[in-house]
Amino acid sequence: MPLQIVHHPDYDAGFAVNHRFPMSKYPLLMEALRMRGLAAPEALSMPEPAPASWLKLAHAADFVDQVIACQVPEKIEREIGFPVGPRVSLRAQLATAGTVLAARLALKHGIACNAAGGSHHARRAQGAGFCTFNDVAVASLALLAEGTVENVLIVDLDVHQGDGTADILKDEPRAFTFSMHGERNYPVRKIASDLDIALPDGTGDDAYLERLAAILPELSGQRSWDIVFYNAGVDVHAEDRLGRLALSDDGLSAREDMVIGHFRNHGVPLCGVIGGGYSTDVPALAARHAILFEVAARHYCLLPTAYYLLPTAYHFL
Ligand SMILES: [Zn+2]
Repeated sequence: MPLQIVHHPDYDAGFAVNHRFPMSKYPLLMEALRMRGLAAPEALSMPEPAPASWLKLAHAADFVDQVIACQVPEKIEREIGFPVGPRVSLRAQLATAGTVLAARLALKHGIACNAAGGSHHARRAQGAGFCTFNDVAVASLALLAEGTVENVLIVDLDVHQGDGTADILKDEPRAFTFSMHGERNYPVRKIASDLDIALPDGTGDDAYLERLAAILPELSGQRSWDIVFYNAGVDVHAEDRLGRLALSDDGLSAREDMVIGHFRNHGVPLCGVIGGGYSTDVPALAARHAILFEVAARHYCLLPTAYYLLPTAYHFL
């Protein structure tokens, strides 16, 4: 069985090509995955829109109702960065359910990725920063509520701080939020995660990977994690319009290899979400997002499903 990827054609809400949010990256990412042989029918699963009951685990009930009814106040729409019409509303429900589905597939197969998600600026009260619903927070709370998992780790390496996830999960001791991001990037007012690492402008591959290599054992050593959600935002890239950390393609590839390899070696199921990426060259941006899936597929082949079903001795590989 190939690496499991969750996708829906309506992840693309059809914005104008010159919109600040590069919506066309979603179909172009799927095209990039097809070209890499990663999107065969048996690799793909499609979510249904998330029910309001899941969304309300993470978000204020009135905000959830406003999004579903496409009646979000203009002030909040401005903070989100686009109007919440029927396609945006559907997209938000699908992308959120996509991360829940990818998490379930990760628990079953050891690793799975959503070809969307990582909407980490959506707070409990409302959306913000191109994020309507916080898919990772919803998925964490949904799995915790149903008792599927007891300890959830969130590793957020998008260039922007994971303020919304920190806000939603701050009183949830069973979830640990980690964000490593650009110090001078949005949001100006950050909400403290359980652990934050703020990096200076122009950090570059070597210094970035060094910090990451040092922190991963600390994170995995804290508890016996039942799942890790990995936000693999590519806005850390040198050519990103909104990022400041100056990573290269090779640096990105090494980052995914380091994170995925680390948690695979520790036997922790990993749910990958794509997070942010804002280049004007959208095909190049889609190719950058595809790196997560390429690296995940490589690791999946190295240690297939059966590994998770074997006795603990294998967990020390
Ligand atoms: Zn970002």
